[in-house]
Amino acid sequence: MAVQNGDRPVFRALALPHLDALLARAGLDEADRLRARAVAEVLPFRTNSYVVDELIDWRAAPEDPMYRLVFPQPDMLPRADVDRIARMLREGASADRLRADVHEIRLRLNPHPSGQRDLNTPLLDGVPAEGMQHKYAETLLFFPRQGQTCHAYCSYCFRWPQFVGEPDLRMASGDAEALTSYVRAHPEITSVLITGGDPLIMSSAVLARYVEPLLEIPHLESVRLGTKALSYWPHRFLTDPDADELLRLFERVVRGGRNLALMGHYSHPRELEPEPAVRALRRVQDTGAVVRCQAPLIRGVNDRAEDWAVLWRRLVAQGAVPYYMFVERDTGPQDYFAVPLARAHELFREAYAQVSGLARTVRGPIMSATPGKVQVDGVAEVGGRRAFVLHYVQARDPELVGRPFFAAYDPDARWLTDLKPLPGDGPLPGLD
Ligand code: SF4
Repeated sequence: MAVQNGDRPVFRALALPHLDALLARAGLDEADRLRARAVAEVLPFRTNSYVVDELIDWRAAPEDPMYRLVFPQPDMLPRADVDRIARMLREGASADRLRADVHEIRLRLNPHPSGQRDLNTPLLDGVPAEGMQHKYAETLLFFPRQGQTCHAYCSYCFRWPQFVGEPDLRMASGDAEALTSYVRAHPEITSVLITGGDPLIMSSAVLARYVEPLLEIPHLESVRLGTKALSYWPHRFLTDPDADELLRLFERVVRGGRNLALMGHYSHPRELEPEPAVRALRRVQDTGAVVRCQAPLIRGVNDRAEDWAVLWRRLVAQGAVPYYMFVERDTGPQDYFAVPLARAHELFREAYAQVSGLARTVRGPIMSATPGKVQVDGVAEVGGRRAFVLHYVQARDPELVGRPFFAAYDPDARWLTDLKPLPGDGPLPGLD
């Protein structure tokens, strides 16, 4: 399935028209294929020939973690919704009817968790600055219009509304000047995170149009790029026609005295097995960029402590820095993929205990919630009751950062808003 142009692998996306054949390759019967296709009408599906040929173990599909990472599962959404869309597909419903029903389901999936749109969109000259989020004083998130897709889509993606072709669900901006003006006007911003989608889906020339003006701003200390290209399409850094241009851009940022941080999304140790993935990581680091690695904990994909320990060890061996283990966010197919906080903490602790101090840069499990990033530190006895011990790693209100707090232990809680204070305590910090 891989496409070559001479010695150069050529990116080939696989989308809805290819889905049924791939589901059949995974061994799904006709009924389950239809249900998986129904899910793919609601949530985005895209993979590519590298993922299919190099990452997925088809002998183990549909249980294979890399398969589950990118393919829709027949039971990923509420049964009644999947049945309804499957019936419409079977009966050949009109595109308009299908679109309306799909839209209604999407709105019930909390498309913009954590107040992303209402609370985080900043004002530039009194007008909401589209495609930017300023949640934490030091960090600005920017969503470049050309970067709102990925080389493949994760089935659990929390940014799914960026990809479903509904403009009112999407955040994006093509305005590099607005980005620069906003950062220049806010000396508290020391870091810009360019994210998506995946900003490395953009050509190097387009990415440079956003990045280079930022280097003129004295108070900016780092540029971060949120990406899964190192896993899903490492040839982006090796043999793509503008791969070298990309690496030269990274070098310019570093030579300009800034930290260029590639926030690499690595979900499973298998992503570091193919030789191009290792070479790509090395090439990026040779520019002086730092690769920090993060991913959510996902049921059926990476919910084994052993996988995280191996992943973090492999990353450290390759010179990368383990950064965050997230908890699946309260959006999209959370019900299907989430691991309860109590279990997430056990897995984190078990994995953390198996790695050297160099890998213990990692923090987790972390909820990126409305008031901030909350880490579950453990479970303790407080006044004779079991309690979660938590703290804010980052918060909209800096006063909350680094202060431990308690919540009543609940083995099934999956998110900050599921937690209750201990009897006699006031509301949880940030939720009052
Ligand atoms: S790489 Fe990130 S943005 Fe892209 S599909 Fe996966 S989780 Fe979503």
